[in-house]
Amino acid sequence: MSVVLEAEQENPFEAVCRWIDRASAILGYDESTSRPLKHPRRCVIVSLPVEMDDGRVEVFTGYRVQYDTARGPCKGGLRYHPNVNLDEMKALAAYMSIKCAVVDIPFGGGKGGVACDPTRLSHRELERITRRYTAEIFDIIGPDKDIPAPDVGTNAQVMAWVMDTISMKRGYLEPGTVTGKPVPLGGSRGREEATGRGILVVAREAFAHLGMPLEGARVVVQGFGNVGWNTARLLHEAGARVVAVSDVHGGVYHPEGLVPRLVREHRDRTGSVVGYPGARTLTNSELLELECELLVPAAIENQITRSNAHAIRARVVVEGANAPTTLQADEILRRRGVFVVPDILANAGGVVVSYFEWVQDRYGYFWREDQVRTRLEDKMRQAFRDVMELSTQLGVDLRTGAYCLGVQRIVEARRLRGLYA
Ligand code: GLU
Repeated sequence: MSVVLEAEQENPFEAVCRWIDRASAILGYDESTSRPLKHPRRCVIVSLPVEMDDGRVEVFTGYRVQYDTARGPCKGGLRYHPNVNLDEMKALAAYMSIKCAVVDIPFGGGKGGVACDPTRLSHRELERITRRYTAEIFDIIGPDKDIPAPDVGTNAQVMAWVMDTISMKRGYLEPGTVTGKPVPLGGSRGREEATGRGILVVAREAFAHLGMPLEGARVVVQGFGNVGWNTARLLHEAGARVVAVSDVHGGVYHPEGLVPRLVREHRDRTGSVVGYPGARTLTNSELLELECELLVPAAIENQITRSNAHAIRARVVVEGANAPTTLQADEILRRRGVFVVPDILANAGGVVVSYFEWVQDRYGYFWREDQVRTRLEDKMRQAFRDVMELSTQLGVDLRTGAYCLGVQRIVEARRLRGLYA
């Protein structure tokens, strides 16, 4: 996305560490307490020689970072994207640790990925990369160790290959080793839309808190992958007016509102939302600056930066992506009175239903979609209230409050467990 090129060069892992420091200082923790939180437990880098369809052998680089296990096994997505690198994986794994603590599910954090462009790979090539990657990290993943899930560039099919590879090597079916699987293979109903549904819940809570109606509110969604699409669809169904959406090629805008399902049909036919009949085309940077009540950046990192934060005209920002706002941009939005629901709370619906999937797999007993939905809504509402309450008590914004809540819960678990020597 063009905006990425303008982003200030912020090291993503240093940015998380700054947040951990800030939260630790507010909570009154000394260095000995906060220091371990700024180090991943384990980082694995693997080389993946893979035969391409034309017979060439390419070597891809894969990563898995296991950040913190104080509260449970590592949990976090598997990302296929050209920008995947160790610092990004460390940062995203740290986010997952804090996110799981914020929504109070019994997991630590992890993240993995392969540096590749999945849009340029065939189905068979993706399968070979996935199986080789899984074989390389076989020893360190499993239902009680580390449980991958979909992220940018991966989906339920990729998770099915991960599960199959693990199961074939173990000699028995092990569905709980990965979440976000297809439903016939032990996936959870409602997992695919879960991040979008979680965003809807926190958007509702935020609007209620501000005394604003969500019905009729103008909504702008950046990104039209799993998170962006489901967010746009669910907000539209909830009565909001989705005036603009975008993908990597650009955005479309209609002041009267778009019907996300029709935009999706157009995207599926043509390869992009751009060109949707009757709508004005705009760039991703223009889209972020549209006047609206709710902006949901649901693409990738570093989209709201110090270069465009002054120009954001949304009243509320709900972060669907991980780290879409840089540190400096966050400061600017705060000064300008934009109400930001931070990523580690806003997009946690995905990992919450991943947790439900893991529970169902371990029981071998599956829930109805309405049961998943009700439990997800409860979890997200509770997390929003917990973050609100602590933020109010500490006199800080929601992002700082969410970090304080997550860090506090991890530190408490570490303190109770003690240091193993
Ligand atoms: N990739 C998603 C995230 O960043 C989901 C992770 C999971 O379900 O484990 O939250």
